[in-house]
Amino acid sequence: MNLLKTGATIGILGGGQLARMLALAAAPLGLRCHVYSPETDSCAFDVVHASTCASYEDEHALARFANSVDVVTYEFENVPAKTAAFLAKRKPVMPDPKVLEITQDRLVEKDFLTSLKIPTAPYGAVHSATQLAEAVEKIGLPAVLKTRQLGYDGKGQAKIAKGGDPMSAWRLVQSAPCILEGFINFEREVSVVAARSQDGKVECFEVTENEHRDHILYISRVPAKVTPAVAAQARRIATQIAKAFDYVGVLAVEMFVVRKGRNTALLVNEIAPRVHNSGHWTIDGASVSQFEQHIRAVAGMPLGKPLRLGERVEMVNLIGAEVNEAARWLSVPGASIHVYNKGEARARRKMGHITRVWPAR
Ligand code: AMP
Repeated sequence: MNLLKTGATIGILGGGQLARMLALAAAPLGLRCHVYSPETDSCAFDVVHASTCASYEDEHALARFANSVDVVTYEFENVPAKTAAFLAKRKPVMPDPKVLEITQDRLVEKDFLTSLKIPTAPYGAVHSATQLAEAVEKIGLPAVLKTRQLGYDGKGQAKIAKGGDPMSAWRLVQSAPCILEGFINFEREVSVVAARSQDGKVECFEVTENEHRDHILYISRVPAKVTPAVAAQARRIATQIAKAFDYVGVLAVEMFVVRKGRNTALLVNEIAPRVHNSGHWTIDGASVSQFEQHIRAVAGMPLGKPLRLGERVEMVNLIGAEVNEAARWLSVPGASIHVYNKGEARARRKMGHITRVWPAR
């Protein structure tokens, strides 16, 4: 393992709340962070040793950034491939940029899962109106049309109802390259946040149950209402993916829990090659947080064994103007607030979160 010394600097691409919480977790380990982001109002700039505000195409700024850090990591999966390759020639980049090529494209990601024999919703590639008709014929309706790239929080997605018009969904996604996915009537949604160290050890956080509102994560809860066998299977899937990527750092795997008669199946919806919103509860609710695990992994340190602190833990996102009410949680026993200081509280924007820990009785 390539152990960073106290005072070493981790470079983070992206300056949002995930970078901010990574930097906050690095400090107690004696490490500094340098955040690189094109956005002037990046909320991670508030809490770091150094920052660069420049575009991901600016090779002079990228070279200076690479010179000033010991390793590079990222807080989001849409880092341009050229940027990652440029930095990887100069400093270790973790997780490996090849992971980005897979997770930036829903079709490549689904094919990767299929190659590992990990079940997903039925899917098909859609690059033309003819292919859309063929995919609808094969998969059936209802279904969801998703752009292959740059979709998140329900953006770049259009549902096609039973008896609905596929062409109006195709127009909605502006004829971009897509995949069509069968609509899954899931019982619940869960995720596993897993960390893998440089020497290949994997530690999974507890399976988390996620509730979405308007396609955006709203509440995460642990323990999830799944049987121990389903929880073990979910952790096995996340571990298998982390190993297949030869991954270093934290990743999250989102899954649908589907009931088929007496049996329960897990279908993987998405892989996030980064710390994840459904792991925010670990800051206050676990003995080591997902952010600390990620920093430990890229810094060549051993991972912690995550233990839940409390009988149950809940994380609620503060979306848009909800952040203005954050202070009311300050007097609630077991509650912690995390305000990201992102400026304008626009609708659908994740502005903060609160965590509630209920102590074991
Ligand atoms: P995604 O951007 O793929 O993570 O999707 C966001 C949310 O949309 C998921 O968390 C689900 O709640 C819902 N969703 C996505 N794909 C499907 C599907 N194939 N069937 C049913 N719901 C879905």
